[in-house]
Amino acid sequence: MTKISIIGSGFSSLSAACYLAKQGHNVAVYEKNSTVGGRARQLKKQGFTFDIGPSWYWMPDIFEKFFNDFGKSTKDYYQLDKLSPAYKIFFSDDEITIGDCLDKICDEFERIESGSSEELRKFISKAQENYDIAINKIVLKPGLSPFELVTKDTVTRVDQFFKTISSEVRKKFKNPKLISTLEFPVLFLGAKPSKTPSFYSFMNFADFGLGTWHPKGGMYQVINAMQTLAIELGVEINTESNVTKINVKDGKAIGITVNNTEIESDYVLSGADYNHSETLLNKEHRQYSDSYWEKKTFAPSSLLFYVGFNKKLKNIEHHNLFFDTNFDVHAQDIYDNPKWPEEPLFYVNFPSITDKSMAPDGCETGFFLIPIAPNLEDTEELREQYFDIIIDRFERKTSQNVSNSIIFKESFCVKDFKEQYNSYKGNAYGMANTLSQTAFLRPNLKSKKVANLYFTGQLTVPGPGVPPSLISGKLAADLITKHHSKKI
Ligand SMILES: Cc1cc2nc3c(=O)[nH]c(=O)nc-3n(C[C@H](O)[C@H](O)[C@H](O)COP(=O)(O)OP(=O)(O)OC[C@H]3O[C@@H](n4cnc5c(N)ncnc54)[C@H](O)[C@@H]3O)c2cc1C
Repeated sequence: MTKISIIGSGFSSLSAACYLAKQGHNVAVYEKNSTVGGRARQLKKQGFTFDIGPSWYWMPDIFEKFFNDFGKSTKDYYQLDKLSPAYKIFFSDDEITIGDCLDKICDEFERIESGSSEELRKFISKAQENYDIAINKIVLKPGLSPFELVTKDTVTRVDQFFKTISSEVRKKFKNPKLISTLEFPVLFLGAKPSKTPSFYSFMNFADFGLGTWHPKGGMYQVINAMQTLAIELGVEINTESNVTKINVKDGKAIGITVNNTEIESDYVLSGADYNHSETLLNKEHRQYSDSYWEKKTFAPSSLLFYVGFNKKLKNIEHHNLFFDTNFDVHAQDIYDNPKWPEEPLFYVNFPSITDKSMAPDGCETGFFLIPIAPNLEDTEELREQYFDIIIDRFERKTSQNVSNSIIFKESFCVKDFKEQYNSYKGNAYGMANTLSQTAFLRPNLKSKKVANLYFTGQLTVPGPGVPPSLISGKLAADLITKHHSKKI
């Protein structure tokens, strides 16, 4: 039986593990941390449950397709609820509530800018066409050649790869609050809206068309489900297994070294950050130089706080965006002139508002996130300073006192991303999807220098986010299967 060793246990590694095991291979996962899930691990404390990383469950069709590929459904593993409203955005002079269907969102747009709902319907209809092309066709390609992108659908939309989402939105909407609302979804792709091709408006369809969902018990339920499925399929999962070397002989990967033990393998697949994975190879076997990585646009890092409150909070929803300061200035502090933002935008979720299982009775589970440039100085003092800034703003915007209701708080920032995940510069969600970092222009799923060595995850194809990570695992597994079937 072919032995395949997989480094890491994030969404991409678990996805690949399931597909490879289904093909009948002997698959083992090696994760350095004590629990699986990678950036999507879980923190449980004093009866509170936190998702450490992702919290927005978007594109439910992709999760469903993943489980369908194994004759299962998401329903077999977790309960999925559509959030209503999906989220709320706080601006300096108003609040926008995004409802659970386009009609409600249109009403809200009309309240802010007369006539905007008609434009919105047209914009979302085009975004839906892009979603069908992107998700059902383009992202399922392994990014091996530029010709993968040349299809009847893309050729007729080529202008959308050269215009940006920012310019397109500004052509149709004038109100700055609506502009920020429509630019928000592409932030998940890791770059500024002014650097993101307008073709990526498919994220707006994911947002307004498909909605925001919540797996009961949190996003970690999806990791639990994938782990259960992987084990059912025969995958061996090893935690506390730090991989220190990818072993190569005669230009071919022959295994890995884990906790000082060599494990022979026919194939090696790494779902750890790509840059780190290549440092596990001798220099002559690496495809990308330090300067290659240095020039790339990385998605932001984040300063995160996991906070337990001893009371129920008011005037908030499950997901809340605080866009009450200048979006462009904060974006410059992330991408153009990396520094700690003076007046940060931030995001907060309170899953206990819709899901009682996430907090003790009468309490609230709060997750605060400030996006920041990767590799910034990270000290306890800076973390505290920023907590005070956002809690103060949060209290003012939601008209309540919360700081004296905090039972505990934990933080997570650049240093932790590096130490816990070997993240390049402490990035939170990988390498951005800009035009020059799309498809075949991203780091390869297959090593060009070492045979039988493959990569998966948010730094490779198709890009950042949970749904792309599920797809990335499938693409890498398909390439291995294809290579293997040619040999036998
Ligand atoms: C704060 C935050 C919020 C996010 N929010 C969202 C969201 O709301 N919705 C969404 O869709 N996406 C979100 N994302 C992005 C999403 O979480 C990621 O895209 C996805 O989890 C990446 O999965 P992955 O498999 O590529 O990598 P990872 O999850 O990073 O997995 C890599 C694994 O490799 C392990 N590893 C590294 N080095 C070694 C080694 N030497 N030996 C063994 N193991 C090793 C790591 O410990 C880790 O477990 C968010 C990310 C963060 C950090």
